Amino acid sequence: MSTSTSTYQELLSAVVAENGRPVHDPATDELIGTAPVQDVARLDELVAAARAAQPAWGAKSHAERSEALMKAADAIEANAEPLATLLSREQGKPLNGPNARFEVGACAAWLRATASFELEEQTLVDDGETHAVLNYRPVGVVGAIGPWNWPMMITVWQIAPALRMGNTVVVKPSEYTTLSVLALCHVLNSALPEGVLSVIAGEREVGAAVSTHEGIDKIMFTGSTATGSKIIEASANNITRLTLELGGNDAGIVLDDVDPAAIAEGLFWGAFINTGQTCAALKRLYVPDAIYDDVCAALVEFAGKMPMGVGLEEDNVLGPLQNAAQFKIVDDLVEAAKASGARVLMGGEPDRDAPGNFYPTTLVADISPDAELVVKEQFGPALPIIRYTDLEDAIAQANALDVGLGASVWSADRDRAKEVAARIQAGTVWINSHGGVDPRIPFGGVKRSGYGVEFGVEGLKHLGVPQVING
Ligand code: NAD
Repeated sequence: MSTSTSTYQELLSAVVAENGRPVHDPATDELIGTAPVQDVARLDELVAAARAAQPAWGAKSHAERSEALMKAADAIEANAEPLATLLSREQGKPLNGPNARFEVGACAAWLRATASFELEEQTLVDDGETHAVLNYRPVGVVGAIGPWNWPMMITVWQIAPALRMGNTVVVKPSEYTTLSVLALCHVLNSALPEGVLSVIAGEREVGAAVSTHEGIDKIMFTGSTATGSKIIEASANNITRLTLELGGNDAGIVLDDVDPAAIAEGLFWGAFINTGQTCAALKRLYVPDAIYDDVCAALVEFAGKMPMGVGLEEDNVLGPLQNAAQFKIVDDLVEAAKASGARVLMGGEPDRDAPGNFYPTTLVADISPDAELVVKEQFGPALPIIRYTDLEDAIAQANALDVGLGASVWSADRDRAKEVAARIQAGTVWINSHGGVDPRIPFGGVKRSGYGVEFGVEGLKHLGVPQVING
């Protein structure tokens, strides 16, 4: 097994394809390289190879597969800097802050954690008459379809438990961040047996082909709710198992007992991590009238100190939007908010002629709870701050949407915050922070944010099929 280190150029050369899709740096519009665009015939070949490799991989012990994941983590660490550079150039996120270097570090951390969980045979009944035990067996071949916002980390979230459980995996990256995922898997494959992990680099129709493929037994999907619905329909044919991590529009509710200055940093990063392009980011903030102006002022002060710019410049902690379509979504939502009479505290005036997809850090106050910027997922650096007088109204508004990925409650009184948290319809409710994930703690959505959980032992079980042996 090699933990050799590549340069950025070597890594890029290993994954680009002649006559592929041009990939431009979203900060500068420069051409980075050309990504391969493969078709359904290539998918068939990769699925056949994955099926051929699965029995031997599935027959290995958990200890053997965990050891391979640990070595894969070593390989990531040995190549961390070129991986982070490519991620920054293709996705746009800066090297520093909770961005590209952080994401690559999380890939190694998730591999190690996923390798370390114990999953013992469980005795269900042992009463002298009946002896029944439960084990989780490999599902078979897993198709891992991912988005463009955290392309490396989410790929690892999908493939680490899949591999640990004895499945083989075919990854279908987002067409916007193909090179990053190809480079990640190129590095991982230096530590994994042949055929266990492969990548199909195709457009949306290749994603659709993955979701209907008869040789794929389970889909791990992270992306929009609209695509998730299509994948559910596609699963009917083969009764394909699904884990769906879909869109969110997370609410944060501030209670009236907080110190605004003390929570400003947490609120800011909860909302603006990855320049707002995060599934479980704080996307609408409810603040009580009594401290509304102070919370707004504290947020403006903190946000004003956070530099946005080209990812490879070491000072920046916020970057461009990854693609022009996402820029337009954010721009349109903020323009609609302005037209409705909402008050822009900062930002809201992008330079539409400048290179890159930069949308400035934007805070919008005194906005109607029904405004589009509140009820639609902006997935970018524009936070609506909604004033409330009655906490019951804020809870009702938090629960009024049809998505429920994360949420947060901010209070000096943990017990009070927990009582409010228990009433919010979301897969995770954080107290005094927002969006932190942990490989030991299950994560998943409710309502139209999807079903199934990732991470922890519960996450491993979702990449296996339960088998009872009774007798
Ligand atoms: P998207 O749904 O447009 O694309 C995701 C992936 O699905 C891409 O690889 C795409 O090629 C593929 N795809 C497209 N059509 C398909 C089809 N018919 N069948 C199968 N695959 C298909 O999502 P996106 O724009 O890349 O990502 C942004 C969205 O993802 C946001 O809504 C965000 O909230 C969500 N997201 C959720 C989580 C989570 O953990 N819940 C994490 C990150 C992003």
